[in-house]
Amino acid sequence: MHPISHLLIGWTVANSARLARRDRMLVTLAGVLPDLDGLGVVADILTERTRHRTFYYDAYHHVLAHNLAFGCALSLLAAILAKRRPLTTALAFLSFHLHLLGDLVGSRGPDGYQWPIPYLAPFSDALQLSWSHQWGLKAWPNVTATTLLLALALYWTWKRGRSPLEMVSLKGDAALVRTLRVRFGEP
Ligand SMILES: [Zn+2]
Repeated sequence: MHPISHLLIGWTVANSARLARRDRMLVTLAGVLPDLDGLGVVADILTERTRHRTFYYDAYHHVLAHNLAFGCALSLLAAILAKRRPLTTALAFLSFHLHLLGDLVGSRGPDGYQWPIPYLAPFSDALQLSWSHQWGLKAWPNVTATTLLLALALYWTWKRGRSPLEMVSLKGDAALVRTLRVRFGEP
């Protein structure tokens, strides 16, 4: 799935419980950070026309951070940093696994590659998760799910006075809340 879809799923999980902003950020990040292992694509593009061309994206995407060990590391981080520790840790663990699930069902590449998830990496390559009915990255179920999540996020923004923008800018977050409330009235 697209990182924006992962972000919306993570933020929805984070906002399904009464958590402080820091805890919401931890839960949301747990749903997005696995895609850090795709950042090698930047090096790949930069080196494309050189003699030292890299293939980090192919080598590491869905490998380094799409596994149980990384999920446990993220959950541990949440356990250390959160205010409501047990709940935030559990939701971070859930958020991380929803990322894997999203990739499992809806991340088939344009070339048909399924990007199997090596769940037990780096300790074992025994469990390679993939699903034969997996749909494409831009297929309608992804578009529909993302649209619905976005609608829910906007509703919560209006109703609860906070949006996914809280992840990056409190000013932008407040501006969006204000705009929606001016347009649709006070909740
Ligand atoms: Zn992913």
